[in-house]
Amino acid sequence: MKSMSKDKHQLSGVTEAQPLRLPRSAVEAIAEVWSKEAEYSPNMSLVEMVERFNGTLIFSDDPRVLETNSIRVNGERDFEIRIPATATAAANRFTVAHELGHYVLHYLAANDRKPIFASRYGTGEAENEANWFAWAFLMPAEDFRRTWKDCQSSILSVAEYFKVSVFDSITRARQLGLVPAKLVIDEDATEEVVA
Ligand SMILES: [Zn+2]
Repeated sequence: MKSMSKDKHQLSGVTEAQPLRLPRSAVEAIAEVWSKEAEYSPNMSLVEMVERFNGTLIFSDDPRVLETNSIRVNGERDFEIRIPATATAAANRFTVAHELGHYVLHYLAANDRKPIFASRYGTGEAENEANWFAWAFLMPAEDFRRTWKDCQSSILSVAEYFKVSVFDSITRARQLGLVPAKLVIDEDATEEVVA
């Protein structure tokens, strides 16, 4: 299945998202600009998030649809994000922001704009960049610090406010130096970072 879909991509001239190789701070700066530009707020629906970028969001439970690629960019304002209908709202919010990261970083900001796709379980630098984008897009530094203070450093309240998982809010708190990097957290409260 996997190799077949790859061949299909190669034939249609769509290539895998390539990293910009920027430091995390640069990716975060880009993400925050887009978060502002899109007037993102945690109350925004996932469909609205994607529509702000003129893309299409598809919910699916068909493994054949989901396993191949989670985003496919055909051109500017022309892309499709696919997410599992059964995942939690918080996990899907992160996934949507991550895929928007691929669109902004690996298509819009690329030197050579070419149709791209990103696999659901991809690894490497491009995936890291999309994750950095997602955390900063969903939790801009200034908003996060203010909310952290308002919630009296309660990670659960912060996660609830931003409508993200506990794992994602802890990650952001660590990135902003609000909790020690080696804070031990309950394994059950974490979830895997999507690709
Ligand atoms: Zn990805």
